[in-house]
Amino acid sequence: MSVVVQKFGGSSVENTEKLFNICKYITKEYDNNNKVVVIVSAQGKTTDNLIKEAKEINKDIDKRELDVLISVGEQITIAKLAMCLKKLGYASISLTGWQIPIRTNDVYGNADILAINLDRVIRELNKNKIVIVAGFQGITEENDITTLGRGGSDTTAVAIAAVLKADKCEIYKDVDGVYNIDPKTNEKAFKYDYISYDEMLNLSNNGAKVLHNKSVKLAKEFNIPIHIKSLYDENANGTYIH
Ligand code: ADP
Ligand code: ASP
Ligand code: MG
Repeated sequence: MSVVVQKFGGSSVENTEKLFNICKYITKEYDNNNKVVVIVSAQGKTTDNLIKEAKEINKDIDKRELDVLISVGEQITIAKLAMCLKKLGYASISLTGWQIPIRTNDVYGNADILAINLDRVIRELNKNKIVIVAGFQGITEENDITTLGRGGSDTTAVAIAAVLKADKCEIYKDVDGVYNIDPKTNEKAFKYDYISYDEMLNLSNNGAKVLHNKSVKLAKEFNIPIHIKSLYDENANGTYIH
């Protein structure tokens, strides 16, 4: 038995059909007798739309209240994914960042994780449930809601994999791996089968938004191998970041 952490981003959970689609990757690991923790982002453009709506109220955004607003997207996804898995007959439970809790500093909109207590997650795994965690969300010592920065669900996934000492940390994307340049805009882009943490950090820092750069730093610090996998091709090798 292994502990597997899987992360699915906004485009992978965009609608109900896509939510049911990712269930096959989750249940495959579960059916192989693994403990599975799933991290998800907000559906599609939910976060962008919420930011737009906040700006309609006041262009000079209140950062604390913005985090209360935009963290909502991930809560919608975890509830729906748990419902999908239950519909398929799998025991599962959704948990928000504050239910866990994922403690952060109070840098609203770009908070750093300070500590994670996984007691609840482990209890649920031991009840043979698939645990679904909201990405992006944190909570301060004062119990104020924070978010980890745009794209921050990758960081939630790597942080949980680190604390759980997971055997696998899989991050599913709508591309089949990490390329030297965005494959959607450049035909000549080539895919890496393996890439080092430092090379990956270099790509992220130069604007490749394929992985949140804090997640790569964390993976390097705790030596967590990340496997970037394709959402559309189960047999593709993807990219190992190590
Ligand atoms: P998610 O919704 O899973 O968080 P993102 O949209 O954040 O996914 O990241 C995936 C996208 O990153 C891909 O669709 C791709 O167009 C883009 N991308 C940018 N640079 C790269 C790169 N160097 N390698 C792979 N994908 C890249
Ligand atoms: N929903 C957040 C965002 O759009 C976090 C994430 O997708 O990782 O930035
Ligand atoms: Mg992303």
